[in-house]
Amino acid sequence: MHLANSLYAQLRAARRAQLLDTGTPDTLHEGGPPPERWLQQVWRHQRVRRTQLYLADGAPLRVLHPGFWNREAGPDFRRAVIQFGDDPPRTGDVELDLVTAGWRGHGHATSERFANVILHVVWDEADTDRSRPPVMAIKPFLDAPLSELAEWLDLEAPASVPDNVPGRCSGPLRELSADTLTELLRQAAQLRRERKAVEFTARARHVGWENALWEGLLAALGYKHNAWAFRRLAELVPLPAIRPTAEAPSTTAHPMALEAHFLGLAGLLPLDLSRGADPHLRGLWDCWWRERDALNEIIVPKTLWRLAGIRPANRPERRLVLAAHWRNQPTLPTRLENWIRSTSTRRPSERALDLLQLLAPSAAETPPYWARHWTLRSMELPEAHPLLGAPRVTDLAVNVILPWLWARIGREGGPSELRQAVELCWREWPAGEDNAVLRLTRQRLFGTQPMRLPARAFVQQGLLQITRDFCDSAGALCHECRFPDFVRAPERLNPAG
Ligand code: SF4
Repeated sequence: MHLANSLYAQLRAARRAQLLDTGTPDTLHEGGPPPERWLQQVWRHQRVRRTQLYLADGAPLRVLHPGFWNREAGPDFRRAVIQFGDDPPRTGDVELDLVTAGWRGHGHATSERFANVILHVVWDEADTDRSRPPVMAIKPFLDAPLSELAEWLDLEAPASVPDNVPGRCSGPLRELSADTLTELLRQAAQLRRERKAVEFTARARHVGWENALWEGLLAALGYKHNAWAFRRLAELVPLPAIRPTAEAPSTTAHPMALEAHFLGLAGLLPLDLSRGADPHLRGLWDCWWRERDALNEIIVPKTLWRLAGIRPANRPERRLVLAAHWRNQPTLPTRLENWIRSTSTRRPSERALDLLQLLAPSAAETPPYWARHWTLRSMELPEAHPLLGAPRVTDLAVNVILPWLWARIGREGGPSELRQAVELCWREWPAGEDNAVLRLTRQRLFGTQPMRLPARAFVQQGLLQITRDFCDSAGALCHECRFPDFVRAPERLNPAG
């Protein structure tokens, strides 16, 4: 029996029928536009006649690199390299829409995120409005009829890595042994930890070690988009002095008052209390109105916040409630130092769990409102959600707590067994959640072949450091990147070599 012609082919056909059942390709048979995800795959894999591309105004263009698929808010492809006519190649973003009206209709024309778009790709109706980026209709340039592309677009394209994504280093990296590659990533990650430690040391000179940690923790709660707003709040509400002064008493505040203080200073307390306001919000305002006038000048401006596209569990309001909880524990830095002392007898997963228990408020300490709400205006959730989960603890550990401990113990000549405890903890910390940046980095560095690497956080940190040191400046075409040469001489990884 020929399996490929019978069972497997039937399974595949069933999968295809399942996809067709979604109804989207019906538009294809009616001559309408395809689903936007197809447009993305055509562009990502460049299924176009690449030497015969023209803008809507008739000018020729060449796509030297289509850019990297962006799954987050903003343009569909980042860092594309495109040559318009005989002009020098330009690097910028590419936005895909089914119709040209999408540019204004989706608000791209006025959004900062789209300011670097150098090409607007649409399906088949392009006009030449000069107030927009250059427009290209892609349908006339497909390298096969859409009916022929349809199956590939749904079944294969989303899962495969286009040829244009792996970088020049992917070949040499595949030649390395697993041990050498792991060592390379460990060294890159170590450098990243050192850089953070230097930053903590510099900051500690001005605000002290405790508040350098505090600012780092809050910046990490802000993720990449709101780090500065959180950092500002850390400056506005520093940790109480270990030795209290008149200006900074060490007494703890009532949790509700402190929550109101953080949310009010952040400018995130909704003003409208008229209809259906929750008693919790009213309670916060009861606290905040007493101090608002005095603090009005220093409230974080709304323009500092970026709230669109944030996952509900990561909303800044919930993170600020967590910050208020930490702020009410003046011994946090000391407790972290005690925690690292205890780690030598614990397994990696137990260390992470201990840290989670140290940082996360218990069920009794979590304000009941925040256990079941994402924001101050959202519906009540059917289940309780903790203010801090295990993935975020990994992020806090490898980006803030361990580098801070490393800096503090190292700079202050702390006992060698404590330094070893930090080193061991850092080296053995379990890998954190995967994300879009790590996925793209792996695709660029390793291509389509998965590499067998330890499931450790330092591997992820090493990948991020290589991206920062090499990919970010070299661009999509790996322009003048020295990393492949470095990889070809792995003996350099031996510090004594
Ligand atoms: S820029 Fe350098 S490190 Fe990044 S993928 Fe290209 S060759 Fe590799």
